[in-house]
Order: sequence, then structure tokens, then C-alpha cells
Amino acid sequence: MEEKPLNLLEARDALVAALTTLSSSGDYLNQLDQALGDGDHGSTIARGSGAAIRELQARTFANVNQEFEAIGSAMMNSMGGASGILFGVLFRAAKNCPAAETLDAPTLGGFLRRGLDDLKRKSPATVGDKTMMDALVPAVEALEAEQGESLASALESATAAAKRGAESTIGMLARFGRATALGERVRAAQDPGATSIFLFLESLTAAAQKAGN
Ligand code: ADP
Ligand code: MG
Repeated sequence: MEEKPLNLLEARDALVAALTTLSSSGDYLNQLDQALGDGDHGSTIARGSGAAIRELQARTFANVNQEFEAIGSAMMNSMGGASGILFGVLFRAAKNCPAAETLDAPTLGGFLRRGLDDLKRKSPATVGDKTMMDALVPAVEALEAEQGESLASALESATAAAKRGAESTIGMLARFGRATALGERVRAAQDPGATSIFLFLESLTAAAQKAGN
């Protein structure tokens, strides 16, 4: 099957599908956050995803960069807290990437690499600190390693890497965020932010596969 990048509308629909998954995972993500934070990550991410979906559906976009930027701005403005800034920065970074009218593996890899670089300026957290970085860093590396592949198959690798990364947070102590105060008590918990990154990519993969890309 010939595999084409997602056009602007297909990209928007895929992003809406991934954000819909996030917003319907609120209870699960709150549960995860109860073990190591204040139990609100799911509600926060659901609020941000809902706002982002409304933005995506209300506007027209000249390029995929603007779609990602709209998600980031909606999240930043609606979520609040640590994760609002972090997810906002991650998605908004696309505005500083070359304008793209379609979404393919190198474009997505470029957006998320730039987002990760911007995030690193906001947070010193790295792999092993029990944060969203544990899923995001390997996911971006996987996307970059699969530049020549279709979007769907690059995303499959990125999702697998994010899943392993999120699961690897089980057993870690936390060095950032609220979980630090709980010390050894958080070891058995899976980081909610890393889980959000995984769920988003998993759903985006399914949407890209469905679009035949
Ligand atoms: P809050 O901590 O403000 O309640 P959330 O509960 O929505 O925010 O999000 C918590 C998630 O944010 C954590 O699971 C972690 O993945 C991520 N996080 C928190 N602080 C940091 C940080 N300094 N660097 C990277 N990720 C972080
Ligand atoms: Mg929280």
C-alpha cells in the first residue's frame, strides 16, 4: 500500500483522536497520580485535551505547525500547574520548526525534538527521574531513528519506546515534582505524566494507521 503523509485535515483528525483518548483516560491517570502526587493529573490532562480539541475544531490552519501550536496554547492556558507548562511547551515548539503542510515521520520527529529541547530548558529532569521525560526521550529518539519510514510505522516504534519508558518508572524514586516528598513510598507507582505521553502516541498511531498512512 502506498503510504502518504497526513494532510492538514487528516492530521487534525488524528490529533483530535489522540486528545480524545487522553481526555477519556482521566480516571486512570488520576489514580496513577494519587500514588505519587495530588491525584489530579487525569483531570488536568482531560481539561487541557478538551480545550485543545475545541481549538482544533473551531479554527482553520495553514500548516500542521499551527495545529500543534494551538494544542500547546490551549493546554498551557487551561491546565495550570507543572504539567500545563510542560505539555504546553512540548506542543508549542512546532511554531519554531519549518512550516509543514503535511505530517510525516521526519516532521513529527522534528516537532517533538524541538519540544523536548525547549522542555529541557524548563526542567532539569532526565531519563531515570520518574517523570514524563522517561517516555518522551526514548519516543523522540525512536521517531528520529525511523525517519525514512511511514508516519504510522515510525509512530509504532515511538509508542513501543514510550510504553517501555513509562513502565520503567515503576521502581524509580522521584527527583522532581510532588512525588519527591514521598520518598520510598512512590517506588511501586507508574508516573502519570509518562503514561500520558504513551497514551497520546498510542492513539495517534492508531489514527495514522486508520488513515492508511
Ligand atoms: P502537578 O504536579 O502540578 O499536580 P500533574 O499532576 O498534572 O501536575 O502532572 C504531574 C506530572 O508532571 C508528573 O507525573 C511528571 O511526569 C510531570 N512533571 C512534574 N514535574 C516535572 C518536571 N520538573 N519535569 C518533568 N516532568 C515533570
Ligand atoms: Mg498532580
